[in-house]
Amino acid sequence: MSTPTMTDTHTTTGADAVPSLRIRGLSKTFGETEVLTSIDLDVKKGEFLTLLGPSGSGKTTLLRIIAGFETASGGELLLDGTDISVLKPSERKLGMVFQNYALFPHLTVAENIAYGLKVRKYDRGALRRRVDHMLEVVGLGHLAARKPTQLSGGQQQRVALARALAYEPEILLMDEPLGALDRSLRLQMEQEIKQVHRETGTTVIYVTHDQEEALVLSDRVAIMNQGVFAGLDTPMNLFTRPENSFVARFFSDSN
Ligand code: ADP
Repeated sequence: MSTPTMTDTHTTTGADAVPSLRIRGLSKTFGETEVLTSIDLDVKKGEFLTLLGPSGSGKTTLLRIIAGFETASGGELLLDGTDISVLKPSERKLGMVFQNYALFPHLTVAENIAYGLKVRKYDRGALRRRVDHMLEVVGLGHLAARKPTQLSGGQQQRVALARALAYEPEILLMDEPLGALDRSLRLQMEQEIKQVHRETGTTVIYVTHDQEEALVLSDRVAIMNQGVFAGLDTPMNLFTRPENSFVARFFSDSN
């Protein structure tokens, strides 16, 4: 699709694509330990960017700073040109999906999806339309009245995805969302996440330590090692032309 339309303003690869998120010189120390060192990153509108790296490399900390659950020790964090570092998590236009779903157990599927819309004061008609649409996007219309405990792990994760996307966030942040699922379900959910990304055009920042997942899903991958980016490029370039031995080792044939 090369022709932009009124509703499709997202491009993922154009050289002139507008950066949605701009990070400059971002660092984080916990006590004496520096866990992020002067991170620079531009995420383009509509892009699927994955933070990939071994455990402890700083992926979750970076995501939590973007979300507002942690404060950076230094640096800039701009969303569409606005400094969001001063905003509370609820004031940032971000959706979050975690590994352990964090659905409200006492609410139905539809009520879980509606929750963020109520908080944002959607009127009843608009709320109903958004919930129905999101149920359709994740294929759960027939389970709208169920409670989360009556759903499988994959279904719960679909609800979490629908809930996070319901209020059309600027960026969807996902932290190991498939980590608790078995392999066949993970492969299926990868395809569903891809499809939802394609359909909604939402910018995604995705955290995983799974190379295959990063390869399948991402427009670009940032490979993290000890709080810095060891590489940042398309999966193809990282795979075929690794720029250093860490990338080569970490993003090579994992079989
Ligand atoms: P990853 O997501 O890549 O596994 P994390 O961002 O969770 O890495 O952690 C990066 C480093 O920061 C680790 O060494 C971890 O122990 C440390 N860390 C994370 N959160 C805290 C915290 N709240 N207090 C102290 N150290 C932390």
